[in-house]
Amino acid sequence: MNIILFGPPGAGKGTQAKKLVDFYGIPQISTGDILRANVREGTELGLAAKAYMDKGELVPDQVLIGIIKNRLTEADCKKGFILDGYPRTVPQADALEAILDEIDKPIDVVLNLEVPDEVLVERISGRLMCKCGASYHVTSNPPKKDNICDSCGSEIFQRVDDTAEAVQNRLDVYKKQTQPLINYYKEKVILVTLNGTKDINVVFEDIKAILAKFA
Ligand code: ADP
Ligand code: ADP
Ligand code: ZN
Repeated sequence: MNIILFGPPGAGKGTQAKKLVDFYGIPQISTGDILRANVREGTELGLAAKAYMDKGELVPDQVLIGIIKNRLTEADCKKGFILDGYPRTVPQADALEAILDEIDKPIDVVLNLEVPDEVLVERISGRLMCKCGASYHVTSNPPKKDNICDSCGSEIFQRVDDTAEAVQNRLDVYKKQTQPLINYYKEKVILVTLNGTKDINVVFEDIKAILAKFA
């Protein structure tokens, strides 16, 4: 199963991707997580990306296309994959299509999580995350033990780009550069829009019901 999880920042892509990984045993490819790992490790890529990320701007397409090409050709993607946070622009989507054509793994479905702006702002301002990629929320989705990640035991933290200012910019960038991909995919593959405001487990049930048609 080759899936794109699509939606604005804070829609719940990462949260649902983790549940899909556990359920279907296919990898999550989160470009945000890959970029943050590079920033943490101080790689050349991380140094180049950090300034864009802190401001809530998109990292240049060529950087992302390189990352995704490397990742999708790794062995664990043979059974399928869940793209989370990629593509975010038309050139990224075109590049993805070319890469997937080459390895003969077309996208089965795009799951579009729809959540209104007010809810996104509230979610992102209360988001806490772990370096393993797990994300939590101070009120709606707290970890079992204060400040400790349920899945790996590390300390959780607030992302430096989850400030009110950077969030507003990320939402503007989403509308201008990423949202047009909804029509792009409607014309090319199957795109299903889901109500992302429901409870985390209810959204997951809705996703599984859709994916059952592709398994
Ligand atoms: P969110 O969970 O808020 O949607 P992500 O973790 O997906 O954010 O991404 C964090 C930041 O990493 C983005 O604001 C952007 O700077 C960069 N980034 C992640 N994925 C991409 C991408 N596909 N194209 C360009 N920039 C990206
Ligand atoms: P994205 O990866 O799309 O940026 P996340 O999965 O990180 O989004 O979720 C953003 C925030 O909203 C996190 O704090 C997460 O715990 C919370 N969250 C995710 N899904 C839901 C939901 N269905 N209801 C309430 N809170 C949610
Ligand atoms: Zn963790």
